[in-house]
Amino acid sequence: MNWFEDLEADLKCASEAAVLAIRLPNFRNSMIASGADFGIAVIEAIHGRLDDRLGGKMICRSWGDEIFAVVRDAHALGAVSQLAMKVEAAFDEPLSCLGVPLHVRPAIGISLSPEDGTRLRELLSKAQIASDNALHSSCRTQLFAGPMAEGIYRASAIENALREAMANQALSLVFQPQFDLNIGRFSGVEALVRWEDVRIGAVAPSDFIPIAERSGFIPRLGGWVLEEAARQFSEHGIAETGLEMAVNVSPRQLTERSFVFEVEDVLESSGIRPEQMTIEITEGLMLEDIRATSATLNEVRSLGVRTAIDDFGTGFSNFSYLRNLPIDQLKIDRDFVKHLGRDPRSRTVLEATINLGHGLGLQVCVEGVETAEQMAEVRSMGCDLVQGFYLGRPCSIEQLDQNMKMDYRRILGMTEEAVASMQRLHVSGVAGNMSSGSGD
Ligand code: C2E
Ligand code: CA
Ligand code: CA
Repeated sequence: MNWFEDLEADLKCASEAAVLAIRLPNFRNSMIASGADFGIAVIEAIHGRLDDRLGGKMICRSWGDEIFAVVRDAHALGAVSQLAMKVEAAFDEPLSCLGVPLHVRPAIGISLSPEDGTRLRELLSKAQIASDNALHSSCRTQLFAGPMAEGIYRASAIENALREAMANQALSLVFQPQFDLNIGRFSGVEALVRWEDVRIGAVAPSDFIPIAERSGFIPRLGGWVLEEAARQFSEHGIAETGLEMAVNVSPRQLTERSFVFEVEDVLESSGIRPEQMTIEITEGLMLEDIRATSATLNEVRSLGVRTAIDDFGTGFSNFSYLRNLPIDQLKIDRDFVKHLGRDPRSRTVLEATINLGHGLGLQVCVEGVETAEQMAEVRSMGCDLVQGFYLGRPCSIEQLDQNMKMDYRRILGMTEEAVASMQRLHVSGVAGNMSSGSGD
């Protein structure tokens, strides 16, 4: 019998049962680092601990980095919430694995028979949905609930609609200006994808990008964004003004070897110079597969394309990776800017982060600047680039010229002469931009 048949046989013998899906975050990586024997010992220790705490009423089987268990007569253990508490409390004490004490905090999902179904396949899938929720929540043990499944069905509806949207050309791009404080000019734009679905309405990238990431659809979507952004940038004559263009790239794209060829093709067909292009990778996601990501980033950089860490400060607070990653720019998340002016500690943290970037020789961009006060503060901290609603909201390529006509004197809080002399100082090395930006 295989593990599924084992569990199924056990479930059939029980009139009432609970099915547990237990997930160990980073288990695969620990197995690789510590060896398979250690992995097996961890799973056995979890079996033993649960069996002990739930009174020998269970059977456990593992499959990859997931452990499934059927607890017979689960209702006899008390109310369902008590079962969840017992399961959670089972991991308060460290496990003993090959003599090594080990603290684990698995994410556990629980479904119940007969309430959530009577067939193992259905109960397992509901327990997995609950464990998925537990993985992304502070409460590490979760009972299956109907609305959890609605989230999954919604995600799958969005995924299907997204595939159609790409085929029907329902996706579009907007561009948000970036201002260079060192030269007192707009220096580039960031391309952002937009999706207006005829049935669902406008779907925010923060809703559909994670779904595209999980479903493996992101390389196609990202490939389209890269190609289309470069095409528009070049066809509207913006590339030749010397402005730069940043494109968001998912780490999943970077794990595919073809990514570097894609970038090369796009540069060639659009005529954009490599140093005009920056690819932005979100900090948290990049760290999941740092080796593959670094290798591709190195190759992209060897073409002359620049690389940036996006949303810096929102992921792991372990900065040691910064020394080794092939990056040119740090984009500090807008969370750091939000409380400027209200909370003096925000200023300290933001300034220290800008200094950290500069100390590592990186260009620093601050995102999410919405007011003149925030702009003045950020400028006084010596950051290089600024992006945010204060300087311009994302807009279509046709509106970009108009969007970047903001008065530089107002942006910088400087006199016209001071701005002019600042720009003269830098203009020798920098190609003239598309708009004079005087705003008069
Ligand atoms: P992001 O890369 O950090 O992009 C900046 C987001 O902040 C954009 O939201 C932009 O509209 C918004 N924003 C800019 N300035 C301000 C401001 O001053 N205040 C506030 N409150 N928001 C501001 P958007 O376009 O909704 O994009 C959200 C995220 O979706 C992006 O965050 C990026 O992570 C992802 N994304 C967007 N387009 C793409 C894409 O083509 N590929 C990939 N992989 N991800 C994308
Ligand atoms: Ca970005
Ligand atoms: Ca960002």
